[in-house]
Amino acid sequence: MPIQVLDTHVADLIAAGEVVERPASVVKELIENALDAAATQLTIEISHGGMSMIRVTDNGSGIPFEEAETAFLRHATSKLHTAGDLEAIGTLGFRGEALAAIAAVSRLTLFSRTPNAPFGVSLSIDGGIVTAKEEAGCPFGTTIVIRDLFFNTPARLKFMKRDASEGAAVFAAVQRLALSQPEVSIQFFRDGTQELLTPGDGKLASALYSVLGRDLALGFVPAEGSGEDIQVSGFVSMPTCCRGTRGYQHFFVNGRQIRSRLLTAALEEAYRNQKMVGRFPGCVLHVTMKKNALDVNVHPAKTEVKFLSDKKVFSAVHYTVLSALGAKIPRPTLDLTPPTVSSNDSKIRLEMPPSTPAPKFPVPTQQTTIVSTPPAARAAPPASPPTHEQPLTREPLTTQAVDFRMVGEVFKTYIVVEQNDAIFFIDKHAAHERIQFDRMKSEAYQPMSQELLAPLVFTPSPEECTALLDQIPLLSTFGFVVEDFGGGALMVRALPFDLAPQNAESALCELAAELLTGEPPTASTARDALLHTMACKAAIRGGETSSKEELLELAAAVMSDAVRYCPHGRPVATKLTRSQLEKQFKRT
Ligand code: ADP
Ligand code: MG
Repeated sequence: MPIQVLDTHVADLIAAGEVVERPASVVKELIENALDAAATQLTIEISHGGMSMIRVTDNGSGIPFEEAETAFLRHATSKLHTAGDLEAIGTLGFRGEALAAIAAVSRLTLFSRTPNAPFGVSLSIDGGIVTAKEEAGCPFGTTIVIRDLFFNTPARLKFMKRDASEGAAVFAAVQRLALSQPEVSIQFFRDGTQELLTPGDGKLASALYSVLGRDLALGFVPAEGSGEDIQVSGFVSMPTCCRGTRGYQHFFVNGRQIRSRLLTAALEEAYRNQKMVGRFPGCVLHVTMKKNALDVNVHPAKTEVKFLSDKKVFSAVHYTVLSALGAKIPRPTLDLTPPTVSSNDSKIRLEMPPSTPAPKFPVPTQQTTIVSTPPAARAAPPASPPTHEQPLTREPLTTQAVDFRMVGEVFKTYIVVEQNDAIFFIDKHAAHERIQFDRMKSEAYQPMSQELLAPLVFTPSPEECTALLDQIPLLSTFGFVVEDFGGGALMVRALPFDLAPQNAESALCELAAELLTGEPPTASTARDALLHTMACKAAIRGGETSSKEELLELAAAVMSDAVRYCPHGRPVATKLTRSQLEKQFKRT
């Protein structure tokens, strides 16, 4: 074929492919236009997943009669005029492409009326061709109706999923936009049923509540912070309310929803050592900065941006989230309602981290008499092994003057504490694990090594063996002396003091399992994984007998708020209030 310029219709169809991928992208563009037109009320209706009909009605500024057709031409926009305007975009739209693209691949009708205009306009476009334009009596604002999306692009039509999937994608897009603009009341109807109504009272908390529902919203805490010229505000999920996917992460930059690896990393980094492996925090975070501190013109669907300074943005978000998590998060309270079983129960379920891999070979029996203390290189005096007759926390807790009464211990696992009008149940293992973790993680921690009289030899799986051999330098800084024994086996000659020799093999296998889950470990994630394992092994276990002093000390640490979550993100304490109890006895 000779080289020739494509006719406008074909060019429009190609361009439409970039902007209009599926019903959800149409809805997103139409809502963005309504928001740019300063609408305060928006109704979105779809049928058959948006494939047969999408209607978006707003009470915004409207389109003048004379400009109605122009709005549907490619590169027609009222939002910028000069190249200079691109430097500082303040509207959601700016490419002047959406209406042209949508009109090219559907049957579209526009009704619009500007304030004070005696009448409005109705305009019909079929596959990009204007078929009718009339004066119309209509309310102020704009209504756009899209029917038969992709009727003239069978190749695209073929890729559409079931109505339910397309409808779900539309709903997700509407939810994100509702979270981006708490000032706007947004209503969504699917096949005649109302599925969302946000109050538009300007409060992000209200929008969050409407979008996520009560149960989920309760798992979020406010986050507020700022960095150099950057403000961050919104909500982040509590470590215990992390989910199996990243689907609850919503980032908005200057009101624009975006996807960003940088922001995801800044968020997730703040949860290191607080949440369970394989779980992801949720968030609704609004990041605000000067318009010229970012480039929004890097993606056809405008869902990505480039920041002038990645570093500043990362720190602002990271520290905002960190401080939100450090702030007073209420302790989970006991739910005394009988559980209802339902497959799509929206309650947050916590999953336990992967269980300990079973040892592959029995531990040789001639092992483990501790003879020598620290290698000469270590100057500090040896710390004693954790016998649990020692104080459980190294720092004296005398500064923590907290007022509570320890009632006792139940099931050799939970410490029961009374404080004001509430009873707390403290998981002694989880609490002690956190204390151990913080102690070992602190700058002051000097790991001490204990040499085994008879070295321990065991055979992990080949991947576990490689994962551990890769970490020999890290292991040695904590007092492990581990060598390749040949034939897939490992030999352990020395251990950290904090680890009892009988726990060495399971600790190393657990560490290997943790190193093998998720992304390949970096130096610092490997270090955390090792600390997790050692803290867990060094902590008293449920079922073990503890002295009253030990229990008191743990209770004091927890009640003083020094300890909130175990390093895997499980809560260390749960609360039962007096009124909850009284309700059970029908006293109230
Ligand atoms: P862009 O949003 O990038 O400017 P669009 O193709 O989405 O491009 O819209 C073209 C123009 O039509 C907009 O610049 C705006 O002036 C007008 N417009 C579109 N939708 C609306 C609406 N809901 N209310 C008022 N004006 C609108
Ligand atoms: Mg637009």
